[in-house]
Amino acid sequence: MSVQRSLWLQEVAGDAPAAPPLTGRARADVAIIGGGYVGLWTAIRIKQAQPSCDVVVLERDICGGGASGRNGGFVLSWWPKLASLTALVGAADAVRIARQSEDAIDEIRAFCAAHDVDADFRRGGWLWTATSAAQVGAWEGLLETCARAGVEPFRRVEPADVARLAGSPAHRAGVYEATAAIVQPAALVRGLRRHALELGVRIHEGTMVDGFSRDRPVVVRAGGAHGATLVADKLVIATNAWAAGICELARSIAVISSDIIATAPIPERLAALGWHPDLSITDSQTMVDYYRITRDGRVAFGKGGWTIAFGGRIGPAFDRSARRARDVEADFRRYYPSLADVPITHGWSGPIDRTPSSLPLIGHLGGRSHIVYGIGWSGNGVGPSVVGGRILAALALGASDEWARHPLVGRSAGRFPPEPIKFVGAHLVRAAVVTKERAEMRDERPPAWSVRLARFAPAGLEDK
Ligand SMILES: Cc1cc2nc3c(=O)[nH]c(=O)nc-3n(C[C@H](O)[C@H](O)[C@H](O)COP(=O)(O)OP(=O)(O)OC[C@H]3O[C@@H](n4cnc5c(N)ncnc54)[C@H](O)[C@@H]3O)c2cc1C
Repeated sequence: MSVQRSLWLQEVAGDAPAAPPLTGRARADVAIIGGGYVGLWTAIRIKQAQPSCDVVVLERDICGGGASGRNGGFVLSWWPKLASLTALVGAADAVRIARQSEDAIDEIRAFCAAHDVDADFRRGGWLWTATSAAQVGAWEGLLETCARAGVEPFRRVEPADVARLAGSPAHRAGVYEATAAIVQPAALVRGLRRHALELGVRIHEGTMVDGFSRDRPVVVRAGGAHGATLVADKLVIATNAWAAGICELARSIAVISSDIIATAPIPERLAALGWHPDLSITDSQTMVDYYRITRDGRVAFGKGGWTIAFGGRIGPAFDRSARRARDVEADFRRYYPSLADVPITHGWSGPIDRTPSSLPLIGHLGGRSHIVYGIGWSGNGVGPSVVGGRILAALALGASDEWARHPLVGRSAGRFPPEPIKFVGAHLVRAAVVTKERAEMRDERPPAWSVRLARFAPAGLEDK
């Protein structure tokens, strides 16, 4: 598979020989499709609970070749989704789930320490900022939800301090959430892969699953012309945006791109700006800008939402787009004009499995107890996939513990219209969002049509 690898995957290239593809006919207790965070955390939790369980992971590329090896490395909680969670499961469970997502950040730190995974885990918190007058106060509704729930995960920060911490006066206001961390995302997923192998998980890379039966045991067809099959008692679907190609899940997610650029290393200049090196920063656009500093002092700057897939067709435009990289660069230069001369050395993209509420979907496919799925992480999956892995492992093992009975299981986060309405509608809404946000960035009043239409955009990373 020839793809444009992310900076992160380039940094860990050659860390381990590729696992062999699936050939012939094989058996497993649990088959997992997808070797990203969700599939690998699930495999690890199953093995920890039941070491004798025979778990096989099937991955079309290499483990981490999907979003898990390409993301921004922001390890965020679900506190910014407290309003959506409350609407879905009620106030008490919403707070409990947000706390679980906070614990997940500690679990990643502990996992890396325990298994010698050098994923550059740094807990510097998350600065949620406003970069235009229209964005100022985007967090107020959420802060009210938090206050009603009796929790205070966000701290107000003086505008001058926001600009100082973010290293640029483009940041006019903001709030701070202290539990967030950053990681080198590919190092984390490759560390999970290594540990899964140590626990006896069988991994087949370069193994594209072409389809699977719905009966039990499940027959998973892979390997195209070579015609390999895996017969498994249980199946876990952990294919992120690619799940849009599964008919039962197609209307649950919309696939959009997220695009990242990285600069040359400039640690001294970033230090001179005062930009805190361990900080996660976002603005408050619907097509959110997110940025952080890498271990070697580069800026990694991303933007969500440019390209929209038709159904489950995730083509090469989701690996890299030079045009979108230029758009992302324009936002970076606007926020950091003093870095105008710094070269951009890397650019890559990946697909996001956006649900209408931006909360994940975890459940039994068509109500079948032996086929479970965990998709729809909506651009916040690094931390939450730890929670997802626990739930999916419990479901796959048929456990009756708190994870198997988790309030997120079987919840519908809403549905999108069928294709081609979803595709056409998404383009119209995106055009409105772009028009609105470009006007707001100039502190101009956006056209009324764009404001009205932009309201149809799915909820984002934060409840605004
Ligand atoms: C550019 C970008 C930036 C992001 N930034 C952040 C961030 O900063 N913080 C954050 O929390 N989240 C972020 N995300 C989202 C986060 O990366 C995901 O939510 C998370 O990685 C989801 O993990 P996963 O295991 O579900 O998906 P993936 O890592 O995509 O794993 C799914 C795997 O399934 C495989 N697969 C698909 N179809 C098949 C098939 N038919 N047969 C076999 N294998 C198959 C894929 O190759 C892939 O490896 C970002 C995503 C992108 C794309």
